[in-house]
Amino acid sequence: MKNIAILCSGGDVSGMNPSLKHFVEYSLQNNLNPYFVHDGFEGLIDNKIYKASHQHVAGIINRGGTIIGSARSKRFMLKEFREVAKKNLDALNIDMLIVLGGDGSFRGMDIFYKEHGVKFCGVPSTIDNDISGTEYCLGVDTALNVIKDSIDNIRDTASSFSRAFVIETMGRECGYLALVSALTCGAELCLIPEVVYDLSEYEKRFKEQIKNGRRYFIAVVSEGIKEDSKEIALWFEEKIGVESRVTVLGHTQRGGNPTTYDRLMAYKFVNYAIDGLLNDKVNSVICYAKKGFEYKSIDEVANTKYQLDSELLKYLKRF
Ligand code: ATP
Repeated sequence: MKNIAILCSGGDVSGMNPSLKHFVEYSLQNNLNPYFVHDGFEGLIDNKIYKASHQHVAGIINRGGTIIGSARSKRFMLKEFREVAKKNLDALNIDMLIVLGGDGSFRGMDIFYKEHGVKFCGVPSTIDNDISGTEYCLGVDTALNVIKDSIDNIRDTASSFSRAFVIETMGRECGYLALVSALTCGAELCLIPEVVYDLSEYEKRFKEQIKNGRRYFIAVVSEGIKEDSKEIALWFEEKIGVESRVTVLGHTQRGGNPTTYDRLMAYKFVNYAIDGLLNDKVNSVICYAKKGFEYKSIDEVANTKYQLDSELLKYLKRF
C-alpha cells in the first residue's frame, strides 16, 4: 500500500476538519495509508507525522478549525530545513502530500516538489477568497454565514437606536467577504480595497435618507481599505450627524460550525486531490469554476426531466 499525507498551512478555515475526515475515508477506499502532519510545514520538519485512522476523525465533521493544527513556518523557507522535511517523509515512505492552505503554502510546496519530487496537490483554503484561478476557497461560505449572523444581530440593536454601525470584515487586499456580505445583508455602504471611493459623494444621499425617516446605517468595510474603520465611524458622526459604533469581526469569521456547502466542497476538493495524485496530476492546485448564468429554452427547462447533479450521484457510491 502507498502512503499519503495531509497538512494544513497558513490561516485555518472552517472546512478543514471535514476535509481531514474525508481524506482518511477516501484514502482507505483507495488502498492508501493516510497520515496526518501536525502543525503544517513545522510538523514536517519536526517529524510530527502520524498514521491516521477512522477513530481520529470520528465526530469532527461539525467542528471548525483543524484537529491537526496549522502553522506558518519560517524554517520551511530555508533549504536546509526542507531537506530535514524530506528525510522525515522518506523515513515513512510518503511521497504524496495534500496541502490545505493559501498561495504562500502552494509556493512553498512547489519549491519542495522541484527540489525533492514530493508530489503534492493543493486545496485552496482561505476565507479571503483571494486565490487566483479558483472561484471558491474552502471556508468562505462559513465565514460569510458568520458575518451574516453578526450583521443580522447588529441590525436588531441598530434599529432600536439612531446609529451608524461600521462592520469590518477580513479579506486583506480582497473585498469579496465585504461585498458579498453587504449585498446579502442589506448594507447602506460597502467599501472595499479594489474600488476607489469618495465618501463625500454619499453625504447628500445619506442626509436626505435621514430626513425621509432613516434611523440607522449599516456600513460593511473590508480590512484592506485605506482608512481605519474608526475613521469611517467618525465620518458618520461628523458629516452625517449620527452617532456611530465600530464592530471588527476579526477572528470570529474564521471559526464556527462548517456550513453544508463547505462540508460538500471539502468532500469534493479532497476527492479531486487524491484522484489527482493517483493520476499524476501532481504539483497542482484544485480550482473550482462554474460556467455562470445561461439562457435556456422552455423546451430544455420544462420538457426535460430534472437530473440530479452527476457529480453528486457519483459520490452516492460510497454509501
Ligand atoms: P494564508 O491565507 O493564511 O495567508 P498562505 O498559505 O498564503 O495562507 P503564508 O503565510 O503565505 O500563508 O504561507 C504559509 C507557509 O508557506 C509559510 O509560513 C512558509 O512556511 C511556506 N512558504 C511560503 N512561501 C514560501 C517560499 N517561497 N518558500 C518556501 N516556503 C514558503
